[in-house]
Amino acid sequence: MTTTEARPAQRTTFDSLNPATGAVVATFAIHTPDEVRAAVERARPAAAWWAGLGYDGRKKRLRAWRSIIASRIEEFADLVHRENGKPEFDALGEIAVAIEHLDWASGAAGKVLGRRKVGSGLLGANQSASVEYLPFGVVGVIGPWNYPVHTPLGSVSYALAAGNAVVFKPSEFTPAVGQWMADTFAEVVPEHPVFQIITGFGETGNALCTSGVDKLAFTGSTATGKKVMAACANTLTPVVIECGGKDALIVAADADLDAAADAAVWGSLSNGGQTCVGIERVYAVDAVYDDFVAKVTALARDVSSGDAKSDQYGPATMPSQIDIIRRHIDDAIASGGRAVVGGPESVQPPFVQPVVLVDVPESSTAIQEETFGPTLTITKVRDEDQAVELANGTAFGLGASVFSAKRGREIAERLTTGMVSINAAIAFAMVPQLPFGGVGDSGFGRIHGADGLREFTHPRSVTETRFPPLLKVATFDRKPYARTALVRLVKVRWGRTSK
Ligand code: NDP
Repeated sequence: MTTTEARPAQRTTFDSLNPATGAVVATFAIHTPDEVRAAVERARPAAAWWAGLGYDGRKKRLRAWRSIIASRIEEFADLVHRENGKPEFDALGEIAVAIEHLDWASGAAGKVLGRRKVGSGLLGANQSASVEYLPFGVVGVIGPWNYPVHTPLGSVSYALAAGNAVVFKPSEFTPAVGQWMADTFAEVVPEHPVFQIITGFGETGNALCTSGVDKLAFTGSTATGKKVMAACANTLTPVVIECGGKDALIVAADADLDAAADAAVWGSLSNGGQTCVGIERVYAVDAVYDDFVAKVTALARDVSSGDAKSDQYGPATMPSQIDIIRRHIDDAIASGGRAVVGGPESVQPPFVQPVVLVDVPESSTAIQEETFGPTLTITKVRDEDQAVELANGTAFGLGASVFSAKRGREIAERLTTGMVSINAAIAFAMVPQLPFGGVGDSGFGRIHGADGLREFTHPRSVTETRFPPLLKVATFDRKPYARTALVRLVKVRWGRTSK
């Protein structure tokens, strides 16, 4: 649900359901705005205590938390499987990547954020200058359901490592996963509520935006991202907004077609296509198009969705997404496209079997809007130039893939996205040191990497006078020769044409 009116009247709790079977996983409170504000107030002294532990103290605790998650990975993956619907292997993989990020963030925080000296320039030559990055205090995190561990931890781990307390609102579809993370964190940090969760619907998320948090990290749809930004604008609360995508994969004439087809099929169908950086469109050059379509078709026909732990992907986690997927398939076909794998009949709620579409016009919603389902369009293009032009032709700009033996980097550099993988799909998400985020309707700000640590801090710049300035300019007590000296200094230092 994406509206602030989403809370059903009179209810104080809600059930989280297994999307495949409808079984109740757990029951949670619908936290009111007052309760959200109280959680943020509780977090404030906790934040001061946590910041006071310093980088080493926090690293110790965060690595103890990492070890708990790692040693109980099967229990955690089973919960993710039951609540989100994804197969057990996908849940294990998601948790493994999240653990790597947690480990890296906790280890790198001191180096990235700690005080460092910087040059002081010509007019500040008598100053010693340094910068350090300080935690905001209390960070609010709002997360989606599709990667209920990796995605929120991409903000939570980095915000905690930087010294903030966190109040996290998980999606209404995956609150038990959020609760598991908060409970295990409390095992290693029992003293103060440094990491709390609040649960509920859109109204609870909206309350977090206006609850006095010092920064808000949002991951979710573009439509909700705009609401979050508007709510935060009232209090000038800074935001990082990670929204959806319509990622393209380009197949150049010299591509390894087997590898490209494998990546396109996995990148589009894994997790049922419910991946912000999932591949939704392919642009394959004329010379290899037919072979590529044949390879994708053969691979995609062998993939299916079901509710067993061992299936390749599970049901649609959010029931309302199924209407969007159906609408995009119908629109693609109504506007002249053809399904070479599956078709409208593939939509069998709560499951959607793979659908591969060709000849879909660029104006179709199946090309322009985020489908968030197990569908893929493949479009024939004249050459790599046209592939780049069309790949850049949506309002989104999150990730992309390029398959080419020799021209991968050259093509990648022309894509207006935040991330690109060359000869792989979604590889950038697995590298903790790489910033993650997009441009345009995909949002702004970055999680992961050094940028992701800095995102949850504000810089503090300090100068210290080492000796009196040779030329006093910042005073009314200027000597008569100051003007002449200043002009000469600037001309000598900056006036010559640089080489
Ligand atoms: P939504 O935008 O529907 O919801 C995201 C979160 O915002 C949920 O916790 C939701 O709560 C909450 N929310 C809803 N309304 C409001 C509001 N008015 N104010 C504050 N919070 C609110 O996204 P989904 O959960 O459907 O997630 C899928 C989307 O997330 C896709 O578009 C996907 O591309 C994107 N995504 C982006 C990623 C990235 O890093 N760029 C990564 C992963 C996903 P509730 O669930 O209770 O309604």
